[in-house]
Amino acid sequence: TALPLCGRLPDNVKVSFEFFPPKTEKMAESLWAAVKRLEPLGPQFVSVTYGAGGSTRDRTHETVARIARETSLTAAAHLTCVNATREEVDAVARRYWDAGIRHVVALRGDAPDSDGVYRPTPGGYAFAADLVEGLKRVADFEISVAAYPEVHPEAASPDADLDALKRKIDAGATRAITQFFFDVDVFNRFRDRAAAAGITVPIVPGILPVANFATVTRFAGMCGAHVPRWMHETFEGLDDDPETRKLVAGMVAAEQCRALAAAGADTFHFYTLNRADLTVAICHTLGVRPPVEEPAPA
Ligand code: FAD
Repeated sequence: TALPLCGRLPDNVKVSFEFFPPKTEKMAESLWAAVKRLEPLGPQFVSVTYGAGGSTRDRTHETVARIARETSLTAAAHLTCVNATREEVDAVARRYWDAGIRHVVALRGDAPDSDGVYRPTPGGYAFAADLVEGLKRVADFEISVAAYPEVHPEAASPDADLDALKRKIDAGATRAITQFFFDVDVFNRFRDRAAAAGITVPIVPGILPVANFATVTRFAGMCGAHVPRWMHETFEGLDDDPETRKLVAGMVAAEQCRALAAAGADTFHFYTLNRADLTVAICHTLGVRPPVEEPAPA
């Protein structure tokens, strides 16, 4: 397919989708509606987040297990180091393995304390690289880890952050999924720095379709993602116009993905926020579509 603005699309674009475990019946309904709508796009896998401080341990497990049971999707479970000893984390991992879940997204997690300073749990895994090592001792999981094109806010330096990513890969992770970002050049430079540092696993851009600009701006501030000036200008005046905002959000994310594709990306991870519409639209523009049903013979 020719891209009018950026060149050619890769032939076989691959995607994955991220969900969070629902808290209420109503939230569960929107999650399952989204899962069902996204399933025909044939993602490589879908993943379910682990609430801050391990607060969703059971809900994450239930959601992942239900996806594995009731859909054709490959389900991956996020798991963090926070608020649990190594033994407890290993037990959660073993339960996943026993339930047939073979893919874990291994993360450090964030500080549960109000001062916001991360301190390893006594007897726990300190950093994500330690968790990857521990998981590999439990079973031969496929492991994905997090990467930060704009540098993790607590990293001593960009190089130290890249070293931390390299340690996670050396410990056995086979894919890095990035924090969301909006500036395509920032991702491309990061990918090149990672390659120069000897990181050869896929670095998958994490795409956040901006359903609510005000929320995204607040969230970006917390996780060190920069919201460029052009994004503020693009969404200006749309705070009370959700319908137009959604159309614009789809356009912005589709342009971002197509520019990434033109620079060589052929795999994308979508932060769906448990909604399908924007992700379906963006995937469509990338050529990721449900299979066309053959008409029944007459
Ligand atoms: P690490 O790789 O351990 O790095 C954390 C920080 O410590 C970095 O600054 C790094 O440079 C530094 N560091 C690493 N090793 C060392 C060392 N040995 N000595 C000193 N410093 C070191 N959070 C959740 O709670 N639940 C989720 O489900 C979840 N899913 C996520 C999915 C993705 C794709 C991403 C990008 C993030 C996700 N997060 C989730 C957020 C994540 O937990 C936070 O960003 C957290 O602050 C860092 O996690 P990490 O796995 O990158 O940590």
